[in-house]
Amino acid sequence: MKNIAVIGSGTMGNGIAHVFAQKGYQVSLIDLKQEYLDRAIDQIAKNMDRQISKGKMSEDEKMAALDRVFTFTDLEKGLTAVDLVVEAATENLEIKLDLFRKMDQLAPKSAILASNTSSISITKIAAVTDRPAQVIGMHFMNPVPIMKLVEVIRGYATSDEVTSEIMDLSRKLDKTPVEVNDYPGFVANRILMPMINEAIYTLYEGVAGVEEIDTVMKLGMAHPMGPLHLADFIGLDVCLSILKVLHLGFGNPKYAPCPLLVNMVEAGYKGVKTGEGFYQYSAGSKELVVAPRFNK
Ligand code: NAD
Repeated sequence: MKNIAVIGSGTMGNGIAHVFAQKGYQVSLIDLKQEYLDRAIDQIAKNMDRQISKGKMSEDEKMAALDRVFTFTDLEKGLTAVDLVVEAATENLEIKLDLFRKMDQLAPKSAILASNTSSISITKIAAVTDRPAQVIGMHFMNPVPIMKLVEVIRGYATSDEVTSEIMDLSRKLDKTPVEVNDYPGFVANRILMPMINEAIYTLYEGVAGVEEIDTVMKLGMAHPMGPLHLADFIGLDVCLSILKVLHLGFGNPKYAPCPLLVNMVEAGYKGVKTGEGFYQYSAGSKELVVAPRFNK
């Protein structure tokens, strides 16, 4: 594999383009508007600068990597002669189904079509294409250049050959791939989201405040970040939509989203991206937690 297309240049897409370009692959980065792509390239350059300051990359390597990223707003042009497409567009079933129909028409017949979806069924996505054996989940973690895991999700029809090709490719990116089957939430979110939901229920029922809950999980379980803080980082809307997928997919009430989470999302408190969730964040900053909103 040499030529990789990445569809969607947001949080995940620019990270995925970054790691492929850094490892010598030619990347076609595709999004709806040129301004999104320009912003993504700026972000990649900034993240590479951080690697340079830590001695993990040289200035020449950065320039060479950036030279390997080409941007497109035209899907057809972006998918010409690619070996793999990694779709990292907005987490919305209709958007993904529409994209996979187009990817199937436009990408070379031999190309593998992967999705970075957090929760949508790979089997369902694959079924709208004429190459379901070549459709697979390639679930990178945020931030992509730093996190080692790639959850490789086999849809119902994904072939052994395609799975092992994607496992090998992930290793070439210096990641650790883990093969899982396609059931709601896969492994990562099936385990993480109920924990976050339970933390929100613990707050909702007045058992403890935000900082207390997060401190218990950080110091008691050696988690690097408390579950409520992590939920703010992931996005409360994203957490809610993944819990809905688990709840619907398993039909088990244990996955029902906490009413407090539903209220917060409806009120527009989505975490870091809106400046407030369980904590408040200074404008434009991801790092600075100003104050917890909920006290016991
Ligand atoms: P994002 O909103 O930051 O970026 C999505 C990008 O997709 C936007 O730039 C948008 O313009 C673009 N897009 C939407 N429709 C498009 C189309 N038809 N063609 C081309 N581009 C299109 O979202 P994100 O957080 O980067 O998430 C992307 C995917 O990665 C989702 O499936 C999400 O579930 C998954 N994911 C996210 C995280 C995370 O922590 N954010 C972690 C793992 C997986």
